[in-house]
Amino acid sequence: MNIWIIGAWPGGLSAALILQKQWHNVTLYEKENFVGWRNGTIEHNGFRHDIGPTFLMYPEALESVFKLAGEDIHAHLNISELDPMYKLTFPSGKTLELSRDREKMIQNIEAVFPWEGVGDRKYMETESARWQALKWCLEKPYSSWTDLLSLPFIKGIPHFSIGQTVHDVLSFYFTNDEIKLAFSFQSKYLGMSPWVCPWAFTMLAYLEHGYGIWHVEGWLSRISEVMADIFVKKWGNLKLNTPVLEIVQDATKARWVRTNEWEQMHDTIIMNADFSHGVSTLFQKETVKKYSAKQLEKKGYSCSTFMVYLELDTLYKNEPHHHIVFSPEYKRSVDAIAREEAYTDDFSVYVRNASIHDSTLAPEWKSELYLLVPISNTRSGIDWESLKESFTENILQMVMKNTSMKDLKDHIEYMHVITPNDWEKRWVYNWATFNLAHSLDQMLYFRPRNKFECLGNCYLVWGWTHPGSGLPTIYQSAIITADMIDKQ
Ligand SMILES: Cc1cc2nc3c(=O)[nH]c(=O)nc-3n(C[C@H](O)[C@H](O)[C@H](O)COP(=O)(O)OP(=O)(O)OC[C@H]3O[C@@H](n4cnc5c(N)ncnc54)[C@H](O)[C@@H]3O)c2cc1C
Repeated sequence: MNIWIIGAWPGGLSAALILQKQWHNVTLYEKENFVGWRNGTIEHNGFRHDIGPTFLMYPEALESVFKLAGEDIHAHLNISELDPMYKLTFPSGKTLELSRDREKMIQNIEAVFPWEGVGDRKYMETESARWQALKWCLEKPYSSWTDLLSLPFIKGIPHFSIGQTVHDVLSFYFTNDEIKLAFSFQSKYLGMSPWVCPWAFTMLAYLEHGYGIWHVEGWLSRISEVMADIFVKKWGNLKLNTPVLEIVQDATKARWVRTNEWEQMHDTIIMNADFSHGVSTLFQKETVKKYSAKQLEKKGYSCSTFMVYLELDTLYKNEPHHHIVFSPEYKRSVDAIAREEAYTDDFSVYVRNASIHDSTLAPEWKSELYLLVPISNTRSGIDWESLKESFTENILQMVMKNTSMKDLKDHIEYMHVITPNDWEKRWVYNWATFNLAHSLDQMLYFRPRNKFECLGNCYLVWGWTHPGSGLPTIYQSAIITADMIDKQ
């Protein structure tokens, strides 16, 4: 079968590798001149900054993609587990190091939050059983509402916590609000608030505690580079710098794609491009009227991120690999972000100091630092151009106050800043970093499906699509879509 894929990261590349192994003839179109895009790198003055993802969790999903592509991941990537996984600094100023080693974890909890260690045992037992019962939900497509009535789904019902949020579920294990936060802030990976995010996403923290947080040497962008190398070596056709501008169809099927030229399609197309951007610009309006501009505006979107990448003339050896500093008014801040308010008064910051474990990221004796601040998406109407300088300064002050890097500003050689406005120009709708929100009415059958319902020969792989945003789920989305196409 001939397959055209629009977008070469991570959904598109993963699907391409799997389908190539199944003897399909795959062409990948990528609008940028490199693969990976949000997972690409900024290379500058001997420093290498990952643009987007930094946490690799549940590496089993990535391993499955390599396995289905007939490759051994360890022959291509040097992946190591981080212990501690990360450090948290709470609004009260207390700090906690999180570990996958349960004895260590309980000791750490007890030292900071006496009497709460027992909650960890209850948490691991219940959440592990929940994950084992429900993980198959993420491994199958939902093409029809009847898929919600399948036997394994029904068997999973005793593990549901209907009507509860992630925060409610955590209250079952712990009493102290800050320790609850340690197991619920992960809702932020979906751009959501733990006080709103549905119970099912307690599994995000469980995936960290059950399977660990991993580092890829050379940074996470190595994954996309390696995937592209394998694809090209196996005679895959990778067209960089080639945005797809239009998909032309007959009554039921896509027939042509327009790039800088017209190309005739024979069989199947997979869209890895931003879904909202794709449906509003690539297809004929009649075909995708279900996703009209009005309908897209009605949907819920995740938060955005303000990014600062620093090049330092020193290496802070006492600063951990991952450190999250919670905003003094954490609930107020996440609620405002979830409501898409123009709120910038206070914020949380995630600091990544990967140079302590990886010498490939900066020249000798130097280091690079990645600062991410979750903020409202562009629907909030914040004018980031005018705030850019003062907001960056506030972030640096917050980092100096709450980490071991008290003299950070004295060591900055160079700084790159990316605001939501910069990113929206690059075709991400509302610059909702983590895509469509993961509310119950936008999950499983109610999320855009792997087999695109509006056009006969079109499939989707993306954070917008089932099972959702984040690297492991997008790898899984590629596995589901490739399997559906191969069966077809
Ligand atoms: C700052 C930041 C931090 C993040 N941190 C994490 C993290 O720690 N862990 C994690 O798991 N996830 C993280 N994410 C989320 C993760 O990056 C996304 O969920 C993931 O990249 C989405 O992948 P995707 O395949 O759905 O789409 P994309 O990454 O958007 O890929 C789509 C591809 O299609 C291309 N494209 C789009 N339109 C066209 C077109 N018309 N023609 C040709 N090509 C096109 C794009 O250039 C791109 O290469 C982070 C994201 C950001 C931005």
